[in-house]
Amino acid sequence: MPHERTHRHDVVHVQPADAHGAASEESLALERALRELLIARGVFDDEAIRREIELTESRTPLLGARVVARAWTDPGYKAWLLRDAKAAIEHLLAIDLALTPELAVVENTPRLHHVICCTLCSCYPRAVIGVPPAWYKSAEYRSRIVSEPREVLREFGLDLPPDTSIRVVDSTADIRYLVLPMRPEGTDALSEDALAALVGRDSLIGVARAGAPLKR
Ligand code: FE
Repeated sequence: MPHERTHRHDVVHVQPADAHGAASEESLALERALRELLIARGVFDDEAIRREIELTESRTPLLGARVVARAWTDPGYKAWLLRDAKAAIEHLLAIDLALTPELAVVENTPRLHHVICCTLCSCYPRAVIGVPPAWYKSAEYRSRIVSEPREVLREFGLDLPPDTSIRVVDSTADIRYLVLPMRPEGTDALSEDALAALVGRDSLIGVARAGAPLKR
């Protein structure tokens, strides 16, 4: 077994989504059967599911980008974020993370680059940046990012200098990670909102840098 650590899955994976993120007919049928059974047993109701879907869809990388922009502009906030990510994020975004797993923010520097993955399934900081892209859940990413991270990052267009170490951070159902990318050069004069606009989803996963400001 390649993965021997304890790992509770937060979702039931019957059959992974295909490369385009579409669920198989089998997994859709099983999802429907399980959902109807849980509703019939009174575990939850339609309204609870609707609320949960709305909550999930309200979480997007724009939230993570706001956290990064604040950390770039406020050293005190950054220190708090790195020390106690959940509390710092709840405070800034006014969201409740009580029911989400532990959350840690890992800082990228010129010497050390972090990239997140879940080697077993699809654990991801959904509460802060929404649902993961299809490639994050692919068997190829989950295995290759561990065995040949520098090459995989190069394929994403991120060619790191040889003296930058790479740390692959493996998420679990108990702890999720969010990357704090480096602040791009030439952004000293930008407002916090303008900085947040430079922070794309991939930079929060660690497969890209935060973007440079667009030249106008
Ligand atoms: Fe997982």
